[in-house]
Amino acid sequence: MTLLRHLAVLLIGNDPGLRRMLQYWGATCILYVACIVLLLAQVAEGMTDPVAAHRLIGYGGCGAVCFYLLIRASGRIGLRPDQLAVSQAVFSLVCSMVAYAISGPLRTAMLVMTVVVIVFCMFAARPRQTLLLAVVALAGMGGTMFWLQATDPAHFPPVTEAITFGYLAGALLSTSVLSVEMSKLRSRLKQRRIELSEALDTIRVLATVDDLTSLVNRRHMHEVLAAEERRQPEGRGSCIALLDIDFFKRVNDQYGHAAGDAVLRSFSTTARSCLRANDVLARWGGEEFLLLLPDATLDDARMVLERMAERVHTMPVPGVEKRRISFSAGLAARGASEPFADAISRADKALYQAKEAGRDRIVLA
Ligand code: GH3
Ligand code: MG
Ligand code: MG
Repeated sequence: MTLLRHLAVLLIGNDPGLRRMLQYWGATCILYVACIVLLLAQVAEGMTDPVAAHRLIGYGGCGAVCFYLLIRASGRIGLRPDQLAVSQAVFSLVCSMVAYAISGPLRTAMLVMTVVVIVFCMFAARPRQTLLLAVVALAGMGGTMFWLQATDPAHFPPVTEAITFGYLAGALLSTSVLSVEMSKLRSRLKQRRIELSEALDTIRVLATVDDLTSLVNRRHMHEVLAAEERRQPEGRGSCIALLDIDFFKRVNDQYGHAAGDAVLRSFSTTARSCLRANDVLARWGGEEFLLLLPDATLDDARMVLERMAERVHTMPVPGVEKRRISFSAGLAARGASEPFADAISRADKALYQAKEAGRDRIVLA
């Protein structure tokens, strides 16, 4: 099974974009194979010159292999999907021109291939490229027909060739218009998908982050705590602390609401700078914060909070230069399989005691 998977990765890679391009390539290969079988049938029926048919089959086969290699290496050599699609379309158009020239009485059937090539373009080429290809197809096929009727009018009567060309022009015109419309629709859908995924990213951030402090918001913190509760406890348990800025109302009253906001922002940045990568600090409400310290003892957590208090005392706050900011905290170690709600409630009581005892301190629950 893994051998098969390795082989599949080797052949079609891992990138979804590359896989899609190879799918289109696979679809054109099916068409090539069908054409080869029919061409061989023409040869068997004596309708087509075997040498010319075998040369065309060889040319088509080599082309298919070359395009596979080009698509597979497109990421490394910097070829865009539309460039690959256009070159593959030009190659297929040349094949259908040659097929027209060598197919004798069956030649008009080859015109279907010309139209199919333009239809394929709607999946990868840009609208302008599709139009240009339709013009190239018409000019190429027109040139082939003109040359055939000029050099061999007995087998390619000029009037028959002219009328056939008229039909082809009509078919190519309508197909390319449809193809262009489809390409435009596809690019609009692609743009819409990009916009939707960007909007989703923004919504995700808004739903989880507090926009004033950029900390985790209360709603998301509930999810973090629920995930932590589900986690298998390994070794040390976790600690939880409720932090509340002291006399914050006075900051607002004395320096204004904007300065109060600046204190909240500076506090958040400073507090976060004291934490490990897996600690989570959330804005729990106004000037109150909830801190989760996974895999930490009560001693570890107290040391973190003490270091945080020192940094908060000296942190610079624009517009609030003269006031020393402090916070009070209630700290609780979460008992084995204790619900976080209970640990938070104990931390809240400890915070109340810290306030009662004069603020700017840490009380253990
Ligand atoms: P204590 O030491 O007892 O905690 O006193 P305090 O003044 O910090 O607490 P109190 O609950 O009396 O006041 C909190 C104030 O925080 C009241 C509210 O207007 C203010 N506040 C809440 N959210 C914000 C905010 O986002 N920005 C600003 N600037 N102020 C806020
Ligand atoms: Mg307060
Ligand atoms: Mg408060």
